[in-house]
Amino acid sequence: MAEPIIRLTDVCMSFGDLQVLEHIDLSLAEGSKTVIIGPSGGGKSTLLRCINLFETPQKGTVFVDGQQLTGKSRRELCKIRQGIGMVFQQFNLYPHMTVLDNLCLAPVNLKKEKRKDVEKLAMMHLSQVGLSEKATSYPSQLSGGQQQRVAIARALCMNPKVLLFDEPTSALDPEMISEVLDIMQKVAHQEGITMVVVTHEMGFASSIADRVLFLDAGHITEDGTPQQVFNSPKNERTRQFLSKIL
Ligand code: ADP
Ligand code: MG
Repeated sequence: MAEPIIRLTDVCMSFGDLQVLEHIDLSLAEGSKTVIIGPSGGGKSTLLRCINLFETPQKGTVFVDGQQLTGKSRRELCKIRQGIGMVFQQFNLYPHMTVLDNLCLAPVNLKKEKRKDVEKLAMMHLSQVGLSEKATSYPSQLSGGQQQRVAIARALCMNPKVLLFDEPTSALDPEMISEVLDIMQKVAHQEGITMVVVTHEMGFASSIADRVLFLDAGHITEDGTPQQVFNSPKNERTRQFLSKIL
């Protein structure tokens, strides 16, 4: 296998006495699309947040795109994180800024790109998510589905090599889920981008993922293609979990 774009070795993470990730070893290939499923509290968000070092593991190493994140200074981390986008359950748009300003903020402030150039790129990504006409709106004027599409466009404006999604449709009304999944599917077809998605949308996982991980109590207990994990899981725990959500 070529050098993986994401490599975690022996990552252990605890909050106080609570051990949340136990000796996680994980390598993800460049351009791969990985879906992480598993019970609530199993450590999915924590694992995702260890990839960009939003959480600092007590033990182990994290490499992304050839750079070691663990042990880096805040300043160095800030630089590396520019190549790692993240989309959250709660969208996390800046409420006091227009859609366009939300999109331009990081490329202008962090990457020091020219506002004029960034605006062009931002409008291109807004059109990609079908929201060109909302550039001057504020987040509160948009539906949840639209806000999440803006959040995806915002992440794309940084031209990330890696895009992390933490239950991007869990906070949405049912009728808005598919519009967000459709956009994510489009992004997945973009060649090269590596996606790691925590979601329980099994149809989506089956259609875009080349790899599904089941994370349970801090351990990766299943690791295979969607077909392998969904149709013939190795563990009884996985079977029970799947029977509840499928
Ligand atoms: P999941 O995303 O699979 O639901 P999480 O990674 O959010 O799981 O959480 C795993 C466990 O770690 C849970 O028991 C949660 O309460 C705990 N946890 C997560 N973040 C923190 C934190 N910042 N401080 C203390 N406990 C936390
Ligand atoms: Mg979570």
